Formats: sequence, structure tokens, C-alpha cells
Amino acid sequence: MRVAIIGAGPAGLSLAYFLKRSGIEAEVFESLNRPGLKPCAWGLITGIEDLVPLRKESIISEIKGFRIYLNGKLVFDVRGDRKLGYIIDKPRFLEDIASEVEVRYNSHVIKRGGEYRLQDGSLLKGYDRVIEATGHYSLGKEHAIPAIQYITDYQQDPEIVEFYFYSGLLGYAWVFPDRNGAKIGIGGWATVDTLKEFVKGVLKGRVLSFHGAKVADVGIIEERLKQGNYIGEALGTVLPLTGEGIRPSILSAWAMAEAIKEGKPFEKVFKSMRIYSAIQYQAKIIKGVKEGKISTGGLSRVLTSSDPDLVFKIAIGEFGKLDMLKLVGRALYDVLFR
Ligand SMILES: Cc1cc2nc3c(=O)[nH]c(=O)nc-3n(C[C@H](O)[C@H](O)[C@H](O)COP(=O)(O)OP(=O)(O)OC[C@H]3O[C@@H](n4cnc5c(N)ncnc54)[C@H](O)[C@@H]3O)c2cc1C
Repeated sequence: MRVAIIGAGPAGLSLAYFLKRSGIEAEVFESLNRPGLKPCAWGLITGIEDLVPLRKESIISEIKGFRIYLNGKLVFDVRGDRKLGYIIDKPRFLEDIASEVEVRYNSHVIKRGGEYRLQDGSLLKGYDRVIEATGHYSLGKEHAIPAIQYITDYQQDPEIVEFYFYSGLLGYAWVFPDRNGAKIGIGGWATVDTLKEFVKGVLKGRVLSFHGAKVADVGIIEERLKQGNYIGEALGTVLPLTGEGIRPSILSAWAMAEAIKEGKPFEKVFKSMRIYSAIQYQAKIIKGVKEGKISTGGLSRVLTSSDPDLVFKIAIGEFGKLDMLKLVGRALYDVLFR
């Protein structure tokens, strides 16, 4: 069995890594000349350390707490001894995985009429499967929102991440620590100009650079799931309430490797994982707001008036129906999820 994987992000590289460990040959094709160049805030929730190598050299800091603000007012300030996640050096983390697998950089793949070709026109052939792990690049406006980010020299507490919610925005701003300062960004269902206005209020320090990208925000794309050859953000594996995509993408790669190894349908394996239902639950909340079943202000109030431990569980996708009922209440639960 030989597998071609398009895209050397967390999803594509992890898939190659998992397949190689099962003795399955895989080759990753990547447009750019190295991994990890896509704009990202580099926050990684704990939970994948046993799946892929995360060396201490790739960890910028360990996250031990978070602050949540609603319309500029601090509503949660949680700090403990428990490690909640990391700020990673994502390019270094990905380069470590890449060093264990076969990657062909500067190899942009074009799909036309069901065929995959490299830029020089040569056909990708000799592969039993071609898996698309191309991230947001293959998503349209209906599946993704804009997210922008400033890198500044503001010295953010290395153990604390901050989130800023607003009554008038379906989305949020963040301040994350970085190796030499902070990553300050915002994403949401709004234009880039509107996002820039919102984020002005949290921008701190001297701006060193600015970048942006799209981020999937509608949950799993069912037709791609059924096709069975998409993983990662190209499949929609981003938790819609938080924009967290690194860990979900790695988990989807794990599901694909299991499916290939065991000869099972990917859809079946992935749907049995908690991350799948968590993404879909959160996607229904976003859909509920867009359809006016709950206002943005109402959603922000729900998130900021509950027990912070519960909000954290919901945010990272480690929740069941009971937790969701506790968060939104029976009446709203029925409106959003029935
Ligand atoms: C501003 C911003 C901040 C974010 N912050 C966080 C965060 O802090 N934590 C978190 O968990 N998530 C975050 N995300 C989301 C996260 O970055 C992505 O969800 C995650 O990287 C998706 O992984 P992936 O492997 O599916 O896709 P990607 O990381 O996008 O990788 C896809 C790769 O495929 C390559 N590619 C695309 N098309 C082709 C082609 N045709 N041929 C060859 N190669 C191709 C691309 O060059 C890229 O390297 C953020 C997103 C944005 C926009």
C-alpha cells in the first residue's frame, strides 16, 4: 500500500507519521519550502503528546490559566497548577514530525477532473490512496471566516492566554504569549476591517508584523467526510467556538491512519471519536446564532456566566450532552440541538 498526502500541516504530516509506524509507505507533497508557515497563534491543548513527538525544544511555554473578558470587562481569571496546554513553536514541532517521514517540498498539487498533477504537469501515480490535507486553502467563504493576527513585543505572561468576547461579534479576540512577545489576533463572522476595529482595543506593544488567513468555522463538511479522502481543516476539523485546529487535525489524521490500516471506512472511524461530536455540537451553536435562535450577546453571556471549568471543558471539546445541558439550559438546548 502506498499513500500520497497533499499538505504538510499538522494533519498531513501526522498521517504520514502514523502510517509509517504501521509499516505503510506514505509521501507528503507540500507547496511551500518548509512546514508551519501558515498564520496561527500556536496554542496547543494537551492530549496529543502520546500520538506525535512534542519535544521540549518545541515548547515555548506551558499554559496554566486563562482570562476571559466580555465587552472589555474581566469575567474569569483562572490560574492553577494544572497544565492546560502549550504555546508551541509550530514550525519546529512540524519539522520534527517531517524529519521522520517522506516530504516533497515545493510540490504544489493541482486536482483536475479527479486527477492529481504536480505543477510540471506530471501525474501523481503509483499510489493506492490520495489524501487531501490542504487546510483552509481548499475551503470557500461558506466554510471559513477571516482571522487576523499581530505579532507584537508586548510581554504577555507566558502561562496565561486571554480571550475577549463582545456582544456584537460572533467570534473573539485573543492575546497569547509568544517567544519574544505576544500574538494578538481576532477571528469572526465579520469583515477584516470590522475585525481590525474590534482588535484595536486589545492591541498592546509595538507591532512587529501582521498576517491573516481563513479558518474553518462550520464544523465537519459532510460531503468530504463521505468521500473519505480529506483530513484536517480541509475536512472542517476546527472547534468552531474556539478556532482550535491543530489538535483536531492530528486526531482526524489518527482516524484516517486507523481506517487505512484496518480497511474500515474513514467516516465510521472518525464519527466514533469524541472530537467529531464536539466539533458538530459547537457548529450547531454557531449555526443557531447565525439563524437568530440565540443572539451573539446571549451566547457571550452563556459562556461567561457559567462555571469556568465547565466552559473550559466545552471549549476544548471534552464534554457530553449533560455538560452542554448544564451550560445552555434545557430550553436553549432543545432550540439549538433538536
Ligand atoms: C490566525 C489564526 C490563528 C490560529 N491559531 C490557532 C491556535 O492557536 N491553535 C490551534 O489549534 N489552531 C489555530 N488555528 C487553526 C490552525 O492553524 C489550523 O486549523 C491547523 O493548522 C490545520 O491543520 P491542517 O494540517 O489541516 O492544515 P494547514 O496547517 O493549513 O496545512 C495545510 C498545508 O497544505 C499545503 N497545501 C495546501 N494546498 C496544497 C496543494 N494544492 N499542494 C500542496 N500543498 C498544499 C499548505 O501549504 C499547508 O502547508 C489558527 C488559524 C488562524 C488563521
